[in-house]
Amino acid sequence: LNLTVKNKVVVITGASSGIGEATAKLLAKNGAQVMLGARREERLQKITQEIIDDGGQAAYRTVDVRDLGQVQNLVEDAIQKFGHLDVIFNNAGIMPNSPLSELKVQEWYDTIDINLKGVLNGIAAVLPTFTSQKSGQVIATSSVAGLKSFTDGAIYGATKWGVRDLMEVLHMESAQEGTNIRTATIYPSATKSELLDHISDQRVHADMVKHYNEAELTSEDVAKVVQFAIDQPEDVNISELTVYPTGEK
Ligand code: NDP
Repeated sequence: LNLTVKNKVVVITGASSGIGEATAKLLAKNGAQVMLGARREERLQKITQEIIDDGGQAAYRTVDVRDLGQVQNLVEDAIQKFGHLDVIFNNAGIMPNSPLSELKVQEWYDTIDINLKGVLNGIAAVLPTFTSQKSGQVIATSSVAGLKSFTDGAIYGATKWGVRDLMEVLHMESAQEGTNIRTATIYPSATKSELLDHISDQRVHADMVKHYNEAELTSEDVAKVVQFAIDQPEDVNISELTVYPTGEK
């Protein structure tokens, strides 16, 4: 494999655990310069130090993806520190699943703000730079829940179907406008991470833990898929990648 991630500057949201952390570590190991963003500063500091101790190039900034100004600051920091910008991986997300009848409306709104508005903020933060340099790549983590429907997952699914649609339209508009911006949407199935920790409904939490114990990808498996999308030549756009553990569908 020709490792074109080498020397690419990559901003990663949700980099304090799970898929984002694994992706930051893998890309940095292969020579990318990574800017990590999330809310938990201690985690970011520790992961960034681990990458640097391992010979990689990394920096971090705390960010709440619900706030456009904070996402813009994260992107600005990456450009300041590493000199340019090649990729944003809009990966931050939460999944506090519950049946609609429970009316956990605050969790609904948080899910929409982080999973959907957060991705839009990432796009808004990089588009001016990517458009003027006529290159760049936007990657987002949707989910198999963005391809099919699940009970207890109405709001999460709505955000992930939403991410699928807005990434599709970004791809179409980039092609139409001739900006050379590449897009990749990742659709992982159940992946070992901290995602289930925030499910407040005990029955749903137990169901999900059981489901996840049956077949599960690792965050490192998904990181390799993200790297594969980045690794393509500039004139090749891998727009969609669906990832299941073997034996599951
Ligand atoms: P984790 O819970 O391990 O990671 C989620 C990350 O998002 C954390 O780094 C968290 O950091 C960050 N985050 C949450 N809210 C915010 C916020 N408001 N601002 C900034 N960062 C935030 O789970 P995963 O690694 O599994 O999740 C990553 C993505 O993958 C999510 O979009 C998820 O929906 C998606 N996904 C996961 C699957 C799975 O089975 N695990 C399957 C398919 C998709 P912090 O709390 O420090 O802010």
